[in-house]
Amino acid sequence: MHGQDFGVFIGRFQPLHIGHEHVVREALSRTDHLIVLIGSANVARDPRNPFTYEERLAMFRKAFAYEMANGRLIVAPLDDHLYSDTAWCGEVQQRVKRIVLEAGNRGGFAVNGLADFNISLTGYGKDASSYYLKMFPEWANIQIDSQYGTFSSTDIRKQYFQRIPAVPASILSPGIAEWLEQFKLGETFRTLLAEREYLDDYPKQWGRGPFVTADAVVVQSGHILLVERGRLPGKGLLALPGGFVDPAERVRDAAIRELREETGISDGKGQIPPAMLASFIDDGRTRIFDAPTRSLRGRIITHAYLFRLPERRKLFAVKGGDDAAHARWYRIGDLSAEQFFEDHWSIINLMADL
Ligand code: NAD
Repeated sequence: MHGQDFGVFIGRFQPLHIGHEHVVREALSRTDHLIVLIGSANVARDPRNPFTYEERLAMFRKAFAYEMANGRLIVAPLDDHLYSDTAWCGEVQQRVKRIVLEAGNRGGFAVNGLADFNISLTGYGKDASSYYLKMFPEWANIQIDSQYGTFSSTDIRKQYFQRIPAVPASILSPGIAEWLEQFKLGETFRTLLAEREYLDDYPKQWGRGPFVTADAVVVQSGHILLVERGRLPGKGLLALPGGFVDPAERVRDAAIRELREETGISDGKGQIPPAMLASFIDDGRTRIFDAPTRSLRGRIITHAYLFRLPERRKLFAVKGGDDAAHARWYRIGDLSAEQFFEDHWSIINLMADL
């Protein structure tokens, strides 16, 4: 049934290496089309996800120009849903459905919808991080053995984000090695390296946790109160007001204290007292956010509190508390995931029902 077999290959490709490329080639030898979904497409750069979706797409174009031009290899972005594998699965299913039906319509062989096609999930199932390969029982599975041993993108990032960066050319195709050589000369590389060094030192200074933090999701009249981070990690990214819980304070009090310190929130007559801020908390919505990978600093478990401020034509006044953070109101509709530090966008989505 020429034209009706589709493989699906999901990965972060941070960066794309010859192990991934081998999987792509093998899959293409067994199916008519391969859909590559580039995961974590909607996260801000950090040392674990240093390259944007567009940059990773460019890597695929370098390695597979011919296959992409003739339409056998289709590359598309896939967002993370850190707190809902179901939502993530749904997004994978939707993306695949749309791509398959579009290709089918173009080829003139989509008569009965998705039922006309054979879809298989491709992977190599190297470790626990590939657990998601089992999340699509409706699709066949094509397991491909690695020809190139067990190296990973993690090893490449470790060698690369150094003061003297190594580009391991033996496990990268030439176009991508060249791309990395260029990238290391730019400002973004230096920023990521500073972040990597900061994160390497972090456990030496603070240990690995678990740490307990509190965050404030403050909404008023279609706006949300955020801080722009003034220092590492995540310098320049948007974050919820919040921070580490002091040894002698309750978590809820920490959320209120951090909110006051970082935003100086006031109602025109002066700073809003803690008791009044407490009265704005929607207790039914308090939630713990504990994805083990949510922070590269270590295991940080946060408690998020939703503060619903009264609807007003004039928003409460705020100002940056200190050099660590600059506070300001943002229109909720203007924001998107890749502007945010760690998992704060996921927290906002779940807390504020976006
Ligand atoms: P990856 O780039 O590390 O790996 C991609 C694929 O390549 C995997 O199948 C892997 O086994 C294979 N591979 C790796 N090294 C290889 C080698 N040397 N030889 C042959 N094959 C090799 O990507 P990943 O981290 O597995 O990506 C998963 C993506 O799915 C991420 O973006 C993740 O965030 C996303 N995801 C999201 C959710 C959610 O949001 N709820 C849930 C599950 C997965």
